[in-house]
Amino acid sequence: MPAVAGIARVAIRTPLYHLFDYLAPAGGVTPGTRVRVPFGRGETIGLVVETADSSTLERSRLKPVREVLDDRPVLDTILLRLLTWAADYYHQPPGEVFAAALPRLLRAGRQQLATVTAWRLTAEGRRADPDARRKRAPRQAAALDCLAQHTDGADAETIESAMGDGWRPVMRRLESNGLVTRIEQRRPEPVVTGEAGVAGFELSQSQRDAVDAVATRLDEFGAFLLDGVTGSGKTEVYLQLAQRVLAAGKQVLVLVPEIGLTPQLVGRFRRRLDTSIVLLHSGLGDSERLSGWRAAHEGRAGVIVGTRSAVFTPLTQPGLVIVDEEHDTSYKQQEGFRYSARDLAVLRARLHGIPLLLGSATPSLESLHNVDRGRYERLELPARPGAATLPAMELLDMRREPVDGGLSGTLVNAMREHLADGRQVLLFLNRRGFAPAWFCGGCGWIAPCRRCDARMTLHQHAGRLRCHHCGAERQPEADCTECSGEMMPVGMGTERIEETITRLFPGDSIARIDRDSTRRRGSLENLLAEIQRGERRILIGTQMLTKGHHFPDVTLVGIVDADQGLFGTDPRSSERLAQLVIQVAGRAGRADRAGRVLIQTQCPQHPLLNILVRDGYAEFASAALQEREAAGWPPYTALALLRAEAADESLPVKFLERARRLAGQVDEVAILGPVAAPMPRRAGRYRAQLLVQGPRSALRPFLSGWAPQLAEIDGARRVRWSLDIDPVDLF
Ligand code: ADP
Ligand code: ZN
Ligand code: ZN
Repeated sequence: MPAVAGIARVAIRTPLYHLFDYLAPAGGVTPGTRVRVPFGRGETIGLVVETADSSTLERSRLKPVREVLDDRPVLDTILLRLLTWAADYYHQPPGEVFAAALPRLLRAGRQQLATVTAWRLTAEGRRADPDARRKRAPRQAAALDCLAQHTDGADAETIESAMGDGWRPVMRRLESNGLVTRIEQRRPEPVVTGEAGVAGFELSQSQRDAVDAVATRLDEFGAFLLDGVTGSGKTEVYLQLAQRVLAAGKQVLVLVPEIGLTPQLVGRFRRRLDTSIVLLHSGLGDSERLSGWRAAHEGRAGVIVGTRSAVFTPLTQPGLVIVDEEHDTSYKQQEGFRYSARDLAVLRARLHGIPLLLGSATPSLESLHNVDRGRYERLELPARPGAATLPAMELLDMRREPVDGGLSGTLVNAMREHLADGRQVLLFLNRRGFAPAWFCGGCGWIAPCRRCDARMTLHQHAGRLRCHHCGAERQPEADCTECSGEMMPVGMGTERIEETITRLFPGDSIARIDRDSTRRRGSLENLLAEIQRGERRILIGTQMLTKGHHFPDVTLVGIVDADQGLFGTDPRSSERLAQLVIQVAGRAGRADRAGRVLIQTQCPQHPLLNILVRDGYAEFASAALQEREAAGWPPYTALALLRAEAADESLPVKFLERARRLAGQVDEVAILGPVAAPMPRRAGRYRAQLLVQGPRSALRPFLSGWAPQLAEIDGARRVRWSLDIDPVDLF
């Protein structure tokens, strides 16, 4: 028997870039288990990443682990390797990285199996009439209402979301009156049971080729890019592959960009797969998340569908990883531990030795480049199955068109035709609110946010100006603060389009879908269901509407303003625009009716836009890749962005200048800046940034020398700074 390693190296959630050494208990401790350890003056929960025979610290200075919390590791060796790699690659404190991989309750030291406290009405409570208390004790009435809806008991989260803060004393009161009792409940599981009631389609030739390419190599790593036009049957390929993987007794991990996408996808998985399906997304409560995580960890779930952080879900029998809509930027975490779930999924599949399938109608330029370099294998689905065809796209020159309320004559006429034919119409505008500027006609003053270098957006329904960057809001100025001139809204938001449509199409019902109109839980699902039933004929929406939904009766799509994306400061804004246009266009003509897409623009000559409309996404992408190569941008080079912000204007730049001096001169690595961030002031803080660029082979060694020293820079504690590896936007 090997000697028991005496040292446990533990990840602890701190900003420090190293693990902490402790004396392991007699009998040792397994990497991947949680431990309670003394830390500072108190104690904390950490995760054993590895064990060792020796420490750089003297043995007498090492403290012992106080308690081992798990019989069975919460993370297996592959996840430990993945996370260790990620901490190194993204230059993040390991404690932060390991914390990101665990459900919050496990981080807090809860038992993997623990139950949850819930409150339930007693028999007397069920007889009590809430209305009798409504006047005298409205909070008690609300509590009774809440529990009446949850006859099996409601946990703290459920009660809090119904009643808000301060519900505990109310509940205690009802308990002491004998109306309510406390119970221990099993955690609710976000698991749905598959039915496998519906048979699959007969695959098209290209679908079959795609399935075979992966299915013949299920026992080895391989990265496949499923490049299929919208509606070409990518999901069908996922399903048939999942069936084979499940039949072999293995699990499938499916990453999706957003929670909004999950219901439809999960619905289809459920109808087709005979297994338990776990959903892991940001809308879950802590308890649900933990029990979903457990179902995966214990191998009870055959399919795990989740957003970004689900890439860290432990699996007992991993068989296949799918990343749907792989181009979506929400796979990149934008704060704290700034990882790319897509990129980590690739590594994870490689470590497990299983295939990875990246699907998209508009693959990222990075992935296409990986195909060119032979790292990924491309599987193409060039057409929609059956009679469905891709919509035709046309540019509308807004400088020549008659325009009414933001809509061109051609678009309005086309809408009339399609509506008269009994079809649905979709208008896309990626800007919520009524108007993006509140403007003085007299002197040109535009209402600014007082805390950001940004304009306030007018929200007419709410009667407020709101800042979309910091959340500030206020009453709109009735008159100009500079010249007392009359204020007016300028530019178009979804609310304003809705107003225009109501005026132009008085008899038609409208669904507006944006973050404002779908704030209430369930409202998005309701709207989508009404659209599916044809009860709403004109759909107006932001990019919420573009992702994954199928609207078979939509035959006309209008893109209200394509120019937002054309002239961004970020070199990648044209890629984003092209993806949006194609994805929105893809909602049209999905059934057996051809669709039409009209794109409003002030610059119909724009070269990339023309290639996109005329030749399609693949041609656009290769033109865009050529531009990137010529300019030396990713994916031909790699980027890292050091951001800093502070309430004091001079501090961020000073910090970044020191960081720059610290870097010195490095072959092949360019350091650009410091410069003010594209939005120099946000939420009252001044922001600046330093961009580091170079070939990956030069950048990685440079960063591993430089990044660990950043925290030591004079002034580093006086700014809030972060290092973003492979940033998805340069803001
Ligand atoms: P994607 O995921 O590429 O957008 P889907 O898998 O959702 O495409 O397929 C689009 C539509 O085509 C769906 O309604 C689906 O049921 C249908 N479909 C997919 N594959 C086939 C097939 N082989 N034969 C007939 N219909 C199919
Ligand atoms: Zn004015
Ligand atoms: Zn603001």
